[in-house]
Amino acid sequence: MEKSPARKRRVKKGDYRMRTHLIHGNYDSDRWDYDHHVIPPISSTTAFRLNSAQRGAQGFIEFGHEELMRKVPIYIYDRLDEPTRGMLEENLAYVEEGETCVTFATGMAAISAALGVLVTSGQSILAHQTLYGCTYSLLSNWYPRYNIGVDFCDLTRVESLQNLIRPETRLIYFETPVNPTMQLIDIGRVARMVADINTERKEADRIVTVVDNTFATPYCQRPIRYGADIVIHSLTKDIGGFGTDMGGAVIAPRKFFNHLVLYRKDFGGVLASRNAWAFLVYGLPTLATRMVNQQKTALKVAEFLESHPKVERVLYPGLESFPQRDLARRQMISYEGKFAPGSILYFVLKVAKTNAEHAVERFVNYIAENAYSITLAVSLGQIKTLIESPNSMTHSALPESDREARGLEPGGVRLSIGLEDWHDIIEDLSAGLNQI
Ligand SMILES: *Cc1c(COP(=O)(O)O)cnc(C)c1O
Repeated sequence: MEKSPARKRRVKKGDYRMRTHLIHGNYDSDRWDYDHHVIPPISSTTAFRLNSAQRGAQGFIEFGHEELMRKVPIYIYDRLDEPTRGMLEENLAYVEEGETCVTFATGMAAISAALGVLVTSGQSILAHQTLYGCTYSLLSNWYPRYNIGVDFCDLTRVESLQNLIRPETRLIYFETPVNPTMQLIDIGRVARMVADINTERKEADRIVTVVDNTFATPYCQRPIRYGADIVIHSLTKDIGGFGTDMGGAVIAPRKFFNHLVLYRKDFGGVLASRNAWAFLVYGLPTLATRMVNQQKTALKVAEFLESHPKVERVLYPGLESFPQRDLARRQMISYEGKFAPGSILYFVLKVAKTNAEHAVERFVNYIAENAYSITLAVSLGQIKTLIESPNSMTHSALPESDREARGLEPGGVRLSIGLEDWHDIIEDLSAGLNQI
């Protein structure tokens, strides 16, 4: 088919800055000829018309082979591949500086697919001890049933890694910043240690480093640049940004692409094309603007909380007092090269330990009933400021006995900053803190 004339423009997207790319994406994607559309269309069809049996057969042969799929793909069935999702995947791979991307129905579907492709029975995973609650539950409740070993360790002390790696370890898994404690893990140091260990191993036995980059977003941190192999996102959070749709993504080297799409085809957790469209036309194009503004407010709120007599401490990578200040400034960098500490913070109320859970409950309930600018809800990374108590809510899957050793304190509160006027957020928090 003849390409429309606009396609002949010779635009080199590499000459443009990432903020511009986030808005325009791949306007000349092979996934869909939309040269005459200002906004890429939603494709909504479960099956695709094939004009011959041979073409159908060819589509099945090519499916999942990244080198063949770089041509215009032969689409067959939504669960295999689909154009709106494909356009989103091209953009996500580009913004994370990775080779390929495969999207999924949710962040958890993305995590379970990445782990499902990388480890099998008899092998084992080494993970940081504090994780998103459902990731922790997946590793500790389900994987032992499949005879997949899981070791937890404190990756903020990277040295400890050496002693914990076993011959059957195939994967290192962590979030940075860690949900919800905001501790950072030095991606470069972990990657270098893993690379050293891998020099002694056969190709098939090599350890893969997987980073859940949901808290930072690609705007604030690109783990592949520091040596991580695979990046995971819950698109439900800041990449979606508006809190309307769920999704997940795995950004991975070419060599894993085939298994990831085959896994998705057979396990079935595909991202719906309508959700892909929302991330493509609302989420990514506004990511930089949202992050810049949410981050500014996060710093103001963090400074306010830090100076408040009812607050014990505040963990926000943008604060001068942040325990891993130097690492934060080295690792969390925007596309423009500026320090980008993100929009989420964690703080601990100054109350007696025995009374802490009760005080958090009172504070959070007051906010739920009286605050207009702050909403009590799980999830994060939306244009609305959200508050929650990790210890009793999102992280209750972690064992109670050593939650504190993992940085989760009974008096802890997680705050995800939105786009409201920062004066209002501070006034609502101030009124809440006066209640305890
Ligand atoms: C929310 C979240 C997930 C899971 O994503 P869903 O889209 O809810 O499945 C995984 N990791 C982190 C860090 C998250 O915040």
